[in-house]
Amino acid sequence: MTYLTEERRLIQDTARKFAMKEVLPVANELDPVQGDMPMALRDKLAAMGYFGIMIPEEFGGMGLGCFEYCLVTEELARCWMSVASLIARGNGLIGSSRNMNAAQREQWLRRMARGEFLGAFSLSEPNAGSDVANITCRARRDGEHWVLNGSKYWCTFADGADFIMVLVRTGETIDPARKHLGISAFLIEKPRGQLPPGVRGNPIPKIGYFGWRTYELAFDDCRVPASCMVGEEGKAFYMVSQGLEKARAHTAARAIGLARGALEDAIAYAKQREQFGRPIGEFQAIRFKIAQMATEIEAARQLMYFVCDAIDCGRRCDQEAAMCKLFASEMAERVTSEALQIHGGAGYTKLYAVERHWRDARLTKIFEGTSEIQQRIISDHLLGRSEA
Ligand SMILES: Cc1cc2nc3c(=O)[nH]c(=O)nc-3n(C[C@H](O)[C@H](O)[C@H](O)COP(=O)(O)OP(=O)(O)OC[C@H]3O[C@@H](n4cnc5c(N)ncnc54)[C@H](O)[C@@H]3O)c2cc1C
Repeated sequence: MTYLTEERRLIQDTARKFAMKEVLPVANELDPVQGDMPMALRDKLAAMGYFGIMIPEEFGGMGLGCFEYCLVTEELARCWMSVASLIARGNGLIGSSRNMNAAQREQWLRRMARGEFLGAFSLSEPNAGSDVANITCRARRDGEHWVLNGSKYWCTFADGADFIMVLVRTGETIDPARKHLGISAFLIEKPRGQLPPGVRGNPIPKIGYFGWRTYELAFDDCRVPASCMVGEEGKAFYMVSQGLEKARAHTAARAIGLARGALEDAIAYAKQREQFGRPIGEFQAIRFKIAQMATEIEAARQLMYFVCDAIDCGRRCDQEAAMCKLFASEMAERVTSEALQIHGGAGYTKLYAVERHWRDARLTKIFEGTSEIQQRIISDHLLGRSEA
């Protein structure tokens, strides 16, 4: 089967040239000093249409599928994973747009496709990580508004975004067996560069994924118009679940992209660095590492293509999407570590991009469902659901 049609190759080539020219130099400059992704870059991504790849054409998007979205993602992540993540802050905020009503779509999707309306996603809490349904942040109805109170954790881009999509509990009781029910989603518009009124927060001191900040947030009587609820009241958990396959494919694409960046850098270094009177790329130990790295990347990519194709054709693939996310992120950690090894001492400095890819690879095993959670999903498919 030919996944890579002529049109897809063109999309891939264009994204590759764009990323190498516009993203890589910015990443190499800003990641080591933990600088923010600049607005100029955001504007260029918008001009390429990358915030609207999956938004329907009637709302100004490209109307393409998860396959094209992941092709572009791989190319951006090859240069800087944070930029590959930024495009997910448009693109209908995966899984959310189909739950918007007609007025909300009209109001938000066009601006999103133009890159003028990008979001942060606030699901996690101090005690709701892998156990995502354990949300305790609450909203109570007050006339035409809802009033939000509680703590959120790990909200990336909370300050730079144009809105925060937040999941809170609107149901009155928490039945431990059905705690996924009673959760609702609100889209809170806010000025770029600030937190919404009634929300305070501090950046979490993370070890990578630079270019933007990740926040802990405190909602303290934050008032939100009732019209900003997205999807059905109490059913937001299903909305998140609908987007999981795409989100996992996207994370695999990020892992594959950054692993490829590390591989390409390792190949260039191995050709140029000489020891014992010859390039280290002539030593079999280095050559075999490179062969192994390339093989692992290609295996992950082919699984990702399979998953993207299934998603675009409307076939359920939750098991394969979990396998793909698991394999690609574990692969990325191995491959970037080997690439760093090929750089010797130079790899353990901030003078080469390989250390960025290595740090960012580590995160792909944690967010969008940890490796252990993916293994749990896969083993539940194979063995039947475990209650542990
Ligand atoms: C840099 C960064 C950015 C993030 N950005 C966002 C964001 O923008 N929005 C957002 O909502 N969230 C975000 N997250 C949160 C992320 O999704 C969570 O960190 C992730 O889901 C894991 O939750 P946790 O950190 O609470 O770990 P925990 O759930 O506490 O897990 C700790 C360990 O226990 C294991 N474990 C837990 N439960 C099980 C189980 N049942 N079986 C086996 N092992 C288990 C885990 O795999 C892990 O190894 C971000 C996280 C990071 C680090």
